[in-house]
Amino acid sequence: MQIILASANAKKIKELKAILGYEKIVSYEEILGKFEIVENGKSFLQNAWIKARAIEERVGERVGDYLVVADDSGLCVEALGGMPSIYSARFSSISASLEELREGRFEVPSEGGSDEANNLKLLEYLRESGVSESGAKFVCAIAVCGRVRGERIERECSGELEGKVIFSSLNPQAFGYDPLFVPNGYEITLDKIEEKNTLSHRYHALQKLKDSLKGIL
Ligand code: IMP
Repeated sequence: MQIILASANAKKIKELKAILGYEKIVSYEEILGKFEIVENGKSFLQNAWIKARAIEERVGERVGDYLVVADDSGLCVEALGGMPSIYSARFSSISASLEELREGRFEVPSEGGSDEANNLKLLEYLRESGVSESGAKFVCAIAVCGRVRGERIERECSGELEGKVIFSSLNPQAFGYDPLFVPNGYEITLDKIEEKNTLSHRYHALQKLKDSLKGIL
């Protein structure tokens, strides 16, 4: 059985592979090449399903037993009214005042931004909010679909990691917003926490997935 990850983000793929600890894992790009998936859902879970179904449609009969695993994730910041949320990867492309952002009154961007640009955008809005830090959480929703030993498989689950965002220096090696996020119970940012893959939102979601796929994974 092959696991096909519905992501082209190398840093996310690395974490998913490490946490799943399963040998036969490939990114969808390795099988299908690059193509655009329009993530126009209203929640992390909806976007995870949009990705999972888009990949599955194209996989067709190309592979034998398979599971498509789609992770949609992001950061929700209290001082920003819960944003960037499902727009985490596209945050730097949003142009809105702080008030508009908090109220969700902005044009939904289609362009993704670099981690650095997204981090700078977050710091800009935080500065504008007048706070020195803010409660925040990472959310990860996972949608899985596929076919294993003739059985149709569909699962969904989610996980969260609570903490706060702070003004901190960026780290070009890090994944996404890790350099600005301190998990509860820690005093350092997530990019400096070696055991991230045993406490993250992604870890919690995948633990639930593994439990629900006992005998298959
Ligand atoms: P997605 O690929 O559409 O799910 O977007 C995920 C975006 O959320 C990433 O590009 C990051 O900006 C952010 N994100 C998700 N998970 C993490 C994480 O574990 N650490 C840091 N940023 C994350």
